[in-house]
Amino acid sequence: MIIVMKNNATPAQIRHVVAQTEQMGCQTYIMEGTEHTVIGLNKHTNTHILNTALLEQLNGVSRVELVNKPYKLASQAFHPFDTVLTVGGVTIGGNGITIIAGPCSVESRSQLLETAHAVKEAGAHLLRGGAFKPRTSPYAFQGMGEAGLELLALAREETGLPVVTEVMEPDAIPLVSSYADILQIGARNMQNFALLHAAGEAQRPVLLKRSMMATVDELLMAAEYILSHGNHQVILCERGIRSFEPSTRNTFDINAIPVLKNLSHLPVFGDPSHATGKWELVESVAKAAIAAGADGLEIEVHPHPDEALSDGGQSLKPERFAAMVKDIRKIAAAIDRTMA
Ligand code: PEP
Ligand code: MN
Repeated sequence: MIIVMKNNATPAQIRHVVAQTEQMGCQTYIMEGTEHTVIGLNKHTNTHILNTALLEQLNGVSRVELVNKPYKLASQAFHPFDTVLTVGGVTIGGNGITIIAGPCSVESRSQLLETAHAVKEAGAHLLRGGAFKPRTSPYAFQGMGEAGLELLALAREETGLPVVTEVMEPDAIPLVSSYADILQIGARNMQNFALLHAAGEAQRPVLLKRSMMATVDELLMAAEYILSHGNHQVILCERGIRSFEPSTRNTFDINAIPVLKNLSHLPVFGDPSHATGKWELVESVAKAAIAAGADGLEIEVHPHPDEALSDGGQSLKPERFAAMVKDIRKIAAAIDRTMA
């Protein structure tokens, strides 16, 4: 349930509505928008005890709305203002387009630093790189672990780019948070509820990737776990779902971008690298994601894709990445958006 105040509601009217609502036994929290204020009722509120007719008659109240979605904190209806995050001086959400780029895995000092400088030069805003990798095969490269995190911190120091890296288990959150600016929860862990709960108590924003087998509602419910445990800094990412089509690694669900933007206030990113699995398709799908309304992209870049220890086939060389960013700029301008 939310109480939407009129544009010209005074602070005293807002305080009065809060007091009346709390007298009815409900906990409230206030969301200040640029135009009006919304009073949200705590998720544990029993809305049957509310006298909505009385609330609707109070001065300054525009309307009282029942939000009947299974997710509340993630929903646009409950929180009608877009969430905008600032991470290491970079804005995520709002009118700007934000680009996260870097290798699938951190492999070595030279590989990471070369990539970090190249993506920065090309216009990326954040650096990505996995130190703990969720691999399908236990025999595949599992990541450098803490040594990889140290290299990410070094790359941040050299380039100024904030870093995004994956965390796979709750116990690793303190360690990964001590290096990372954004915690990534990967597709395979989207419904690892212990991890979502712990990420909700973490002090870092979370890039939550849609599972290849999850519906949009399941992604939003996963986000709700993080939000409901107190972490309001969540970014959603469409990275392709499994379909019957074998010509690409996954099927990029372009519909998910406007669907998520309509349902939620959280920033929505697209990852065309994992969606397509083929470097030659990445640029087209990246452009489509931005044209469809995505707030940003996560792109895999490697200076020597043939030698990559993971996801080389979908990694752009730095020069291709730079050309892609130029085109993304043009698309952003065409839809009245800027680069972050
Ligand atoms: C990744 O970003 O390298 C990754 C493993 O992504 P996803 O979880 O989307 O497969
Ligand atoms: Mn990858």
